[in-house]
Amino acid sequence: MSKITMNKPIVEMDGDEMTRILWGMIKDELLTPYVDLNTEYFDLGLKHRNETDDQVTKDAAERTKELGVAVKCATITPNAARVKEYDLKEMWKSPNGTIRSILDGTVFRTPILVKGIEPCVRNWEKPITLARHAYGDVYKNVEIKVPGKGKGYLVFEGEDGTVCKELIHDFKGAGILQGIHNTDASITSFAHSCFKYALDMKKDLWFSAKDTISKKYDHNFKDIFADIFESEYKQKFDEAGITYFYTLIDDAVARIMKSSGGMIWACKNYDGDVMSDMVSSAFGSLAMMTSVLVSPLGVYEYEAAHGTVQRHYYKHLKGEETSTNSVATIFAWTGALRKSGEMTGNKELVEFADRLEAATIKTIESGRMTKDLALITSMSAPQVMNSEGFIKEIRKTLEAV
Ligand code: NAP
Ligand code: MG
Repeated sequence: MSKITMNKPIVEMDGDEMTRILWGMIKDELLTPYVDLNTEYFDLGLKHRNETDDQVTKDAAERTKELGVAVKCATITPNAARVKEYDLKEMWKSPNGTIRSILDGTVFRTPILVKGIEPCVRNWEKPITLARHAYGDVYKNVEIKVPGKGKGYLVFEGEDGTVCKELIHDFKGAGILQGIHNTDASITSFAHSCFKYALDMKKDLWFSAKDTISKKYDHNFKDIFADIFESEYKQKFDEAGITYFYTLIDDAVARIMKSSGGMIWACKNYDGDVMSDMVSSAFGSLAMMTSVLVSPLGVYEYEAAHGTVQRHYYKHLKGEETSTNSVATIFAWTGALRKSGEMTGNKELVEFADRLEAATIKTIESGRMTKDLALITSMSAPQVMNSEGFIKEIRKTLEAV
């Protein structure tokens, strides 16, 4: 059988620890035997980031902008312990943060559903994709611990000299104050990424905020979404047979719990932080969660939602057997290959991505899985595979169809 060719490269960002080990196995067993992989390789492993003063991360992100599609392995975000462990020149920033700030994108997280790993919420039949606005609000707050009696104000001084001033509270005693902000530019980017991704996935888009209480702040989010939708996306949504729906955050929570899933749920920064952990844990396992960064210009970067699985890596280094789940990393690859296939009209590549995903799911549904899934499956006698064994089983399934 001849290998599938790719006439346009995608960006490949390698990473750290156990996921770096899985990365190599996935390529060797599941990709290169079938696809003549055309990637531009960037080594985002911490050692190389340190050697290049983190330039490699910026280069990878810039190249992603040009090529349109990237696949990324999990990477270490250095903390004090990592600075020591890797003898780092400095505590380099989170690669995902760096990439996100260059691509100006929104992260969409979607669980991978398989029979035998049931979500805690019985009526969730289809995956719920969560989109979190990753700028501003309480994450860029300014706070004051009010010591005692006095007035707290919100003040804006325009460059042209205009001043807006609102009394927040006339304190009779000690208390607290918080100032938060967002920008129309960031909200606009967020809205475009959400509308684009909904069209791309052909899924309904929900957006929630609290505009009844926050009549200027949250209302601004609602208005920007509504304006962009009406002027640029309404017709495309109609044609695709999908809908855009705005509702209050508390109403959204109530409806989501009663729904069968299948929608993209866009949330403000804090809501997204909280709700993504709720949705992902209710669906089962972080190792079954994919993540894609979508820029407002339509650039896509795929990865697994979990980290580098450090604990398993140290076992691996000691020569002990590991049973690390590679599903989300495999789906990062299939997501990127499918997107590349769609962008370049490469039907074979799209079909390959579909087949590899189907083979991965089928392998688990036939009872062969890694330990993390074996612990939570409703199947009676799952066969626990080690990291490499599981990938080899997927290859067998792939070749059997
Ligand atoms: P983690 O790598 O997500 O792993 C936490 C625990 O979750 C693991 O110890 C393991 O539990 C379980 N787990 C996660 N993924 C799994 C998989 N594929 N298969 C089986 N079990 C899995 O988080 P962490 O240990 O907190 O972080 C490790 C490093 O990852 C950190 O340096 C952090 O900076 C980085 N990180 C990177 C990204 C990213 O690049 N997107 C995201 C998050 C964290 P058991 O040990 O109980 O088996
Ligand atoms: Mg969180």
